[in-house]
Amino acid sequence: MKITRLETFILHVPVTGSRIADSVHQVTHWGAPGVLLHADNGLSGVGYTGTHGHLATDRLIAACIRDAFGPLVIGQDPLEVQHLWQRLSEYPPVRWVGRAGITQMALSAIDVALWDLKAKSAGLPLWKLLGGSAARRPVAYNTDGGWLNRTKDELVADARRQVEEEGFRGVKIKVGSPDPHDDLERIEAVRRAIGPRVDLMVDGNGLWDLPTAVRFGRRFADYDVRWFEEPVGFEDVPGHAALARAIATPIALGEQLYSVHAFRDFIEAGAVHYVQPDATRLGGVTPCWQAADLALARRLPVCLHVGDMMQIHQHVAIAHPACTWLEYIPWLRECFEEPATVEEGLFKVPEQPGIGTLRGDALVRFGVE
Ligand code: MG
Repeated sequence: MKITRLETFILHVPVTGSRIADSVHQVTHWGAPGVLLHADNGLSGVGYTGTHGHLATDRLIAACIRDAFGPLVIGQDPLEVQHLWQRLSEYPPVRWVGRAGITQMALSAIDVALWDLKAKSAGLPLWKLLGGSAARRPVAYNTDGGWLNRTKDELVADARRQVEEEGFRGVKIKVGSPDPHDDLERIEAVRRAIGPRVDLMVDGNGLWDLPTAVRFGRRFADYDVRWFEEPVGFEDVPGHAALARAIATPIALGEQLYSVHAFRDFIEAGAVHYVQPDATRLGGVTPCWQAADLALARRLPVCLHVGDMMQIHQHVAIAHPACTWLEYIPWLRECFEEPATVEEGLFKVPEQPGIGTLRGDALVRFGVE
């Protein structure tokens, strides 16, 4: 099989309730700059990354896919995805200008499309190509109600609905309010609403400095918070290690890390407990699997961050033995024929080949240029 042609695209899909906010981000649309790889046997693979729906930077990612990596991909055999990943990730002109951010997100989209094509050519859903079993369904926790722009009453109502009506076994809420005492009140209210047996996670998106994270993070144990996600600056290995020693609540991070080596450094420093790689940022399914292996070797659980909005990660989560929880944010559901779905708190096992099929009208409805 040979890749004969590639086509880039940019999707901007509205988020739930028209706007969401955490301690540092404000988002109205989720961006999915990506690529369709067309092969000589008539099959096409789809891959994409996840952004804030910021058109100027989405265009840079699409250009990097098309102009910088495209010539290396045309004529290649997508079945040799591991070899191609190595070649693309070590391509000197790109590595010279970027080993994180735009170039790594472009590489992610291509790697996902290669895996999708490989699975589609085998007629298998990706989880099965990766060696997984339908008997192993990831547990879902819901993040799409815990935003910082929701009032405390809305937050509590959302959490209650997700647990009591929709069957979720965990919810995650954001912290980083102007007054952190408000965050404690919100955590307390949600814990009271969902009861003691449902998991509650807290996400700071890297806003706080170390003393603030220690001071307020110490209080989280009072509400049996399962993990404190991105408590301080994204790349700060010693800071997270110090926090891990200072508070009882475990640390989760990884959504902003761009290399397997970065995961190695956090894991070896004892600075992370719940490991959260994102295939759409780290460079694709290839390094995501490697990061999960690192966690497995230290007996740390992997809870993939869903910058992909679950469509890709559900497959990795089914197949990799370190994966436990998978985040639920449903913004890209209308883009796929068989979107990632949760039933009774567990992800349904997808049946379509590859990562699934992009809906025929997705590019028309959500495409931007
Ligand atoms: Mg997060």
